[in-house]
This record gives sequence, C-alpha cells and structure tokens, in this order.
Amino acid sequence: MADKPHLLDLNLQEWSEYIIGIGHKKYRARQIFEWLHTHLELDVTRFSNIPDDIKNHILNDFYTTPAKVVKHLKSTDGTEKILFEMKDQKFVETVWLKLRNRNTVCVSSQAGCSLYCEFCMTAKGKFQGNLSTGEILEQVYIFKRLVGETVNNVVIMGMGEPLMNYDAVMKACNLLNHDFGLNIGLRRITVSTAGVLPGIKKFINNEEPYNLAISVHSLNHDVRLKIMDAEKKWPISDLVKYLIENKHNLKKNKLTIEYLMIGGLNMTSRDAKELGYLAQKLDAKINLIPLNFEFDDYKRPDEKSIDAFFQAVKHCGVQVFNRSSPGYDIQAACGMLKYQTV
Ligand code: SAH
Repeated sequence: MADKPHLLDLNLQEWSEYIIGIGHKKYRARQIFEWLHTHLELDVTRFSNIPDDIKNHILNDFYTTPAKVVKHLKSTDGTEKILFEMKDQKFVETVWLKLRNRNTVCVSSQAGCSLYCEFCMTAKGKFQGNLSTGEILEQVYIFKRLVGETVNNVVIMGMGEPLMNYDAVMKACNLLNHDFGLNIGLRRITVSTAGVLPGIKKFINNEEPYNLAISVHSLNHDVRLKIMDAEKKWPISDLVKYLIENKHNLKKNKLTIEYLMIGGLNMTSRDAKELGYLAQKLDAKINLIPLNFEFDDYKRPDEKSIDAFFQAVKHCGVQVFNRSSPGYDIQAACGMLKYQTV
C-alpha cells in the first residue's frame, strides 16, 4: 500500500480533487487549505467549520502526526535551532535566524544528505532520504508558531541537497509563496545547490521564480574535487560553461555564488580574481563564508586573510558579502547541521 500523503503535501487544486472525490462541495478545499497554510493548524480535529465526515476521511487518508520537536536550542545571538523527528524516525534540523531585521528560516530538504562534501557535518551523518513537501513546510510552520513572529525569508540551505529532491522542494516553495499561505515573496525564497547540473538545468529551463544559490567553493577542478564529491559527476567547468551560455535566462540578481573561504586551499589572489570575474559575467552576487569547522589540514582563515580575499573580490566591481554564520554556539551555523538521535 502506498504511503499516506502528509497533510501539507497537497496544493489547493489537489485538495479540490480530493474533496470532490469524497463527495463534498469544492469550497471545502479552500477552507481546509486555509486551516493548514494560513492558520498553520496541523490538528485536523480543530478545523471548527469542517463537518465531521470530512475530518474523519482526512484522518483516515492522510498522515496527520506533526513532526515532533525533540530539541529547541537558543543562541546568544538570537538564532534558534530545532531538532525534529519525522515519520520513520527521520531526524532533521531547522534554523531560525534574525538577520537585518528579517526573520529567516533555514530548512532541510533531505534527512541527511545524498552528496558528500568534506567540510560539512551533514555529510558525516547517515542519509535517511528525501523529505516530502509537507515535511519541508512543517519545519517552517511549527517554528513560526513556536516563535510567534512573521517569517520574511526562507532559504533551503539546511540539511540535504534540494535539487536531488526537486519536485517536493519546488512544490514547497510554491506553497510558501501562495496567497492563502504565508505569502512569502518570490525574491525571499532561495534554493541552494552544491552544483547538481541536471537540477540546475531543470530549474533554469522551468523558469523557477526563486533565487538560486550555487555552492561553488573553488573554480579549480582539482581543488574542488578534493572537497566535494559533486565535482566528479558535474565538473565546475561544465557548470560555468552552462551558466554563461544561458546567462540570458538567469534573471538579474537572482543568482548567488556561495564561496567557502578555507585557509590554505582556495584563497589566492588568482582565486579571488577568477571568482570576481565570473560573478561579473553572470550578474551574480557573491556570499563569502568563512569555514565553520576545521578538518584535515584545512583551517578557518584568520580575519586578515578573510578581509584581503574580500577586498580582492570586491575590486572586480561585484556585489560581495561576507556572510557571518550566526548560531555557532548551538551548532546552527552553515555546515553544522547533522543527523542525530537526541
Ligand atoms: N546542499 C546544498 C544546501 C546546503 S547549503 C548546498 O550545498 O548548497 C549549506 C551551505 O553551507 C553550503 O553553501 C555549504 O557549502 C555551506 N557549508 C557547508 N559546510 C560548511 C562549513 N563547515 N563552514 C561554512 N559553510 C559550510
């Protein structure tokens, strides 16, 4: 028997089909959709204007147990992190960040990750599979209800590789932007990828209206190969070639290049120049992220080298940000989310 869908897996159209299928009037679909996506009510028994017959059908046909909050940690800098337990004992972490007066939720798209990056703790843990659209959304909804504030920005930059779970992620983005949902602006939703070229092609061909962030980290094949398995399958030269050739399809300001600064690895003045030049060519902005934990011979660079690299990139006339990594003390910073069982 197929798995029951998660309560938050369906869009409005699918709710309408379901409601008609069980012999009720279509307008009920919108009422249910609003309970779930406007009021963030995940307890079906509380849908006060919905007849018992419909509620019983839903309770029978859907997976209705919300993700369990196993741990909720708060950093001194305002960042918060939740460890969720989902269906089939999948564990995922989600981060709430207060940045520049905006509330951002950093959500996971997979439990663990199917790719291996040497510098990322998620990769060191177990991969437990893709999350469904509902499992992606409930991270935002449950967090928002707990914090009690608005969500202005969502980044799919938690555990996992979103483009390896393409359909579920795009449907979740769509629902986050929905008028009867949280109505988060298209420009305030960002999907981040380790450079999965087939997924990037699909994203661009489909003209997905969300921001795309690409974790580049090095433009040199040999260096990138040392730190990211993705480089074996999708070499950076192919990715760059594709992006340049399809530049006209990338809407301005929509692309971000993420670049991890790793002492002794990818921070020469030549690296800075090549990076700046590429961003200029693609009208992309650059997020520089200092390495958050040290591995092998690779170190977090000192402030002086960070600044020198930043200035060298900026010198190319591009928009560049030195992205701080809030939440370090609760292991909520970039690359620190991991599989754990409490
Ligand atoms: N798989 C996607 C989504 C994860 S996003 C991707 O790779 O883009 C997480 C971001 O944090 C990526 O840019 C990732 O490269 C970065 N990151 C991973 N480990 C890190 C570390 N130790 N220090 C700083 N950033 C790290």
